[in-house]
Amino acid sequence: MGKRILLVEDEAAIREMVQLALSRAGFDIRAVADAARADREIEQARPDLILLDWMLPGVSGLELARRLRRCDSTRNIPLIMLTAKGEEGDRLSGFEAGADDYVVKPFSVKELVARICAVLKRTTPVGDEHPIEIGGLRLDPVSHRVTGRGETIRTGPTEFRMLHFFMSHPERVFTRGQLLDRIWGRNVYIEERTVDVHIRRLRKALAGHGFDRFVQTVHGTGYRFSRQME
Ligand code: CA
Repeated sequence: MGKRILLVEDEAAIREMVQLALSRAGFDIRAVADAARADREIEQARPDLILLDWMLPGVSGLELARRLRRCDSTRNIPLIMLTAKGEEGDRLSGFEAGADDYVVKPFSVKELVARICAVLKRTTPVGDEHPIEIGGLRLDPVSHRVTGRGETIRTGPTEFRMLHFFMSHPERVFTRGQLLDRIWGRNVYIEERTVDVHIRRLRKALAGHGFDRFVQTVHGTGYRFSRQME
């Protein structure tokens, strides 16, 4: 059986189009029209990825995204926002709310499938890697857990992958373009400033434990993971 995808979309025509296309592409696709039904569906069977429409009646897609990210049982489920709004500010607030990617309507089925595959690829643990520990910060790629001096640190899936990359390559400076290539894969759709949003989210996740200082901005170049202070 293919990966389980949950689509939350109130427009029946889009719901049917996506459902048909994704089942043809080999996914196990469920579709619901609102946040309440999404909650029930997630409780019954945890999806591998959620496609979430921005404009939903009642609880908006953005609100649902925030809620999913706050809850421990749903925090790690990759999220792609579907939005008719193409403006920069809206996209960035989608990322801030916890989206791993977004697709602007109207989208082609081919593009949607490509985005889903890219997000699943970068958020699925490889499973044969060893835990890494640097200065009291520990990341376990197999269990997908981050701890700071034994306490759990909660991250979204993209921040987890970013932290994994940084901790595997400490003390090296990477440009935004290099981070996109290495963490997201060569994906023509993603803009460099998306990196900054995820850096911000990663720092926020680490801040409560004082590890945000490890994620350092190298002015005019990019970012570096280092336990040394500037
Ligand atoms: Ca809608």
